[in-house]
Amino acid sequence: MAYKTDIEIAREATKLPIQEVGAKLDISDADLVPYGHDKAKVSADFIARSQSNKDGKLILVTAINPTPAGEGKTTTTVGLGDGLNRIGKKAMVCIREASLGPNFGMKGGAAGGGYAQVVPMDDMNLHFTGDFHAITSAHNLLSAMIDNHIYWGNEEKIDMRRVVWRRVIDMNDRALRQITTSLGGVSNGFPRESGFDITVASEVMAILCLANDLDDLQKRLGDMIVAYRRDRTPVYARDIKADGAMTVLLKDAMQPNLVQSLENNPAFVHGGPFANIAHGCNSVVATKTALKLADYVVTEAGFGADLGAEKFMNIKCRKAGIAPDCVVLVATVRAMKMNGGVAKGDLGDENVAAVTKGCANLGRHIENLKSFGVPVVVAINHFVTDTEAEVQAVKDYVHNQGSEAVLSRHWELGGEGAEELARRVAEVADSGMAAFSPIYPDEMSLMDKIDTIAKRIYRADEVLADQKIRNQLKDWEDQGYGNLPICMAKTQYSFTTDPSRRGAPTGHSLPVREVRLSAGAGFIVVICGEIMTMPGLPRVPASESIHLNDNGQIEGLF
Ligand code: ADP
Ligand code: MG
Repeated sequence: MAYKTDIEIAREATKLPIQEVGAKLDISDADLVPYGHDKAKVSADFIARSQSNKDGKLILVTAINPTPAGEGKTTTTVGLGDGLNRIGKKAMVCIREASLGPNFGMKGGAAGGGYAQVVPMDDMNLHFTGDFHAITSAHNLLSAMIDNHIYWGNEEKIDMRRVVWRRVIDMNDRALRQITTSLGGVSNGFPRESGFDITVASEVMAILCLANDLDDLQKRLGDMIVAYRRDRTPVYARDIKADGAMTVLLKDAMQPNLVQSLENNPAFVHGGPFANIAHGCNSVVATKTALKLADYVVTEAGFGADLGAEKFMNIKCRKAGIAPDCVVLVATVRAMKMNGGVAKGDLGDENVAAVTKGCANLGRHIENLKSFGVPVVVAINHFVTDTEAEVQAVKDYVHNQGSEAVLSRHWELGGEGAEELARRVAEVADSGMAAFSPIYPDEMSLMDKIDTIAKRIYRADEVLADQKIRNQLKDWEDQGYGNLPICMAKTQYSFTTDPSRRGAPTGHSLPVREVRLSAGAGFIVVICGEIMTMPGLPRVPASESIHLNDNGQIEGLF
């Protein structure tokens, strides 16, 4: 049987006018700011007025360590949202916006897949409502103001060798990773080395996603460190007087975007910070607003649970004062097989033994999530090639772990295929079983926080960090940054820093290569391994086949 592609399914969607979608959340036309017929921003006024509403239940969707294909977190988030609506619950989903650059490389879109998608998926994977362009502009305004400040006399005494603020663009362009600016003579300023990151890696993106409102946004933008002086004291964005104008550029981007699923249920798509050097969740404003509007809010964290869920809990929930009532851990038979040692090319063959072996990875994630005090339901995201025996092997394993796994066929059947999962998740969320707490307190030293994550989540024996790194952490503590949470940047494919070590490895250590302070976002980035902040395009980029067909429709986005 031939299956339709995601974009074909999306194109066949019968969309409701966005006002009707808003009405499902009791948002009046006057409080929606439409961007065309099928997208709208929710007004700041309305958000302020809804603060007195009671909060709904928060459901986090996360996953096992992914295989290169992606395990279907977004697909399951959207499917579960539709499933909840089908069983009569007032539910909505909150997911991230897509970065434009990678869609022209080889990454699939961010709108879900099969019959569990949000639409308009093509818009969402392109310019959408312009939020990322606004972030690019705000970021680069600050870049321009820094060089301009130096040009006109450098009153702040910026050490030009220590400008840490780079430039950004939403494009995979390796040619821009390392550049020299201000070439061409006196009137162009002072030449210095710099470079570009992709927009989603900007600290401005992380701030937009963590800020509670526009005042908080401006304060955090001002707190960003852009350079150091010769005496190593930091120069802040506030010193360059950029925070006000940046906030103006970001005013509309702060408002959540309302769209709909294929089944016309509401979804907020807002924000999209990197899941490595940032926390990888959609915006606090969107999630908190959704909690005021719906009884159940399903949201997703990037990467596997060791990174995404850990940061969701220790960074986003801590900062936003929210807590999950249930965690849905997505697993696939294919990923279990890969974790059990099967090569990508052999995933099509039934292999129950490998599935069971790979379940060790799932088991560890279940234990980890429970250690945050939250109940876990495993969702087996069904692929049509999975065999019954393989699915049963996952269910048996999870059952033996004292948890439960529910098979969900939302990719194939939409919300109808996720009804059983929805019923179970609603029951668990309503049960009041959750007693959430982050796994480390604010007061713990930065090194001990890193140690706690390494040992309790990755199950490493020790953290390896040289004296220079330890001294840097100490300095930040002395400067008053010791209460910040840790933002881990490591491979998503393994509990260790070695992507090839699948399953549930033991006997490893966590080598820390570098630490960075994101003073505006409010976390310390701990880099373990190679982290790419400006991707390149592959040999044959998707952009070679993206085009408009004879009907003016987009082909080649996926
Ligand atoms: P993640 O959010 O974990 O990165 P996505 O939900 O975006 O993953 O899915 C990644 C890709 O996998 C999408 O192209 C989607 O269509 C596909 N996919 C997800 N679930 C299934 C499934 N059950 N069967 C087939 N393809 C799937
Ligand atoms: Mg996703």
